[in-house]
Amino acid sequence: MTVALPLTKIVATIGTPGTPGCTREVVHGLISAGVTVFRLNFSHGTAQGHEETAALIRTVSQESGHEVALLGDLSGPKIRIGPVQEGGVRVRAGEDVVLQTDEILATGPVFSSTYPDVIADVQVGQRVFVNDGAVRMAAIASQPGSVICRVLTGGLITTGKGINLPDTELTLSSPTPVDLEMAQWAIAHGIDMMAQSFVRHGSEVRTLRRFIDQASGESGESRIPIIAKIEKPQAVANIEGIIAEADAIMVARGDLGVEMEAAEIPIIQKRLVRDARSYGRPAIVATQMLESMIHHAAPTRAEVSDVANAILDGADAVMLSAETAIGKYPVLAAEMMRKIARVTEQWEAGRTHRSRGDGGSDFVSTDHWIAALAAGAATIVRDVNARLVVCWSELGATAMHLSLNRYPIPIVACSSRLSVVRRLGVLRGVRPVQMPTPATLDEFTARIDQFLVDTALVDIGDPVVLIAGHPIGTDRQTNSLAVHYVGNPSTGYRGH
Ligand code: PGA
Ligand code: MN
Repeated sequence: MTVALPLTKIVATIGTPGTPGCTREVVHGLISAGVTVFRLNFSHGTAQGHEETAALIRTVSQESGHEVALLGDLSGPKIRIGPVQEGGVRVRAGEDVVLQTDEILATGPVFSSTYPDVIADVQVGQRVFVNDGAVRMAAIASQPGSVICRVLTGGLITTGKGINLPDTELTLSSPTPVDLEMAQWAIAHGIDMMAQSFVRHGSEVRTLRRFIDQASGESGESRIPIIAKIEKPQAVANIEGIIAEADAIMVARGDLGVEMEAAEIPIIQKRLVRDARSYGRPAIVATQMLESMIHHAAPTRAEVSDVANAILDGADAVMLSAETAIGKYPVLAAEMMRKIARVTEQWEAGRTHRSRGDGGSDFVSTDHWIAALAAGAATIVRDVNARLVVCWSELGATAMHLSLNRYPIPIVACSSRLSVVRRLGVLRGVRPVQMPTPATLDEFTARIDQFLVDTALVDIGDPVVLIAGHPIGTDRQTNSLAVHYVGNPSTGYRGH
């Protein structure tokens, strides 16, 4: 761990075994570049493959001494085109195409889909998009077992291409039976967090929540967090209900940009990040962030701006998708993100210092005193020119409250629980550290002092702000703050 890591977290998607990014060297490079969360995309590959990938990441993480979280991304009701002849079928504007429930190997403009039941949900007049919106059609007639679509924008349709139905109220909902199977698998294999795709309502998150809590035997604050992926117009419309049920959100701009007007995405992103923060939940901005780095060693200027703007919008984490999963330059992409984050955060720190306005969140916590302490710490951090905030956060709640205040310096969050340490990997500014619970605040100060000297995170004599509860490690007892000068035995919580 070095201070040169950004406050913003980096999530990297990891491919299946055999893809170029799924090697020891790349995973090592990604962790060194500051990746704290690895996304396993359950839309691709097999359980066996994910098991190998997870084991690889755990091994490299252990070797490098950095804990990272594994994020299992449940694919949800992603609808795909069924089998199509070798080379695909090209459809042209003005042509009529049939989508039918009976599976068929398409050799002309008649296709089946991976969820045959959805055909019955499509109403005349609704839009049907294939291949990330490259092929655009509208339903002009529906009959039992099939729907006829007029092609508006033509293109090539091949096996397994995604179908988006932005106007359709699907009877199919998230989580799907396959999602539950994969969630069960993920729990059994020690996955740290779960992402839920194509959510439309908070109730769908609650369904997954109940399933996971029951399957894992965990509940309350030690439960496995759910990240709701916002990628449907209905999810944007129901965002408050979803955020209330989820532990974090992902602005999943890939599918969102197909299902909604692409021009609206930047504004929706700003709104979603703000909404998440006002509920005290972290937000991840995802997809196409450094897209051109799939093939090139340097990103476009526009992509660099996009990453910087996501950070300025207040995102906790930025995500790499194909760039790290199948791209040619996975480690360079993560390093580029780190660089952009550092420069952006340095500018932001100066600005926050001058205007003071932008750091906080409207979040009204039920843990009033922890929230109050976290807000007050912002003033103390500035006035003593602290280099770090160090807290004891056994279950992660204190770290979450501190993170919301967006101090311009890192927050070292200590917990005795490995699961908490890994999950803190999405919170902006938080550097989680696992250590046994100290018996007293005095011992906490001594341990932190030793830790800071050993890791050279800060220099001897530097001011740090310590935040903990009394007795230390007790749930909901974070109620005290002390200023400590590293190496000085008479500062901090001495004598307590
Ligand atoms: P995906 O989700 O990569 O699983 O499709 C992200 C997105 O749609 O942006
Ligand atoms: Mn998606």
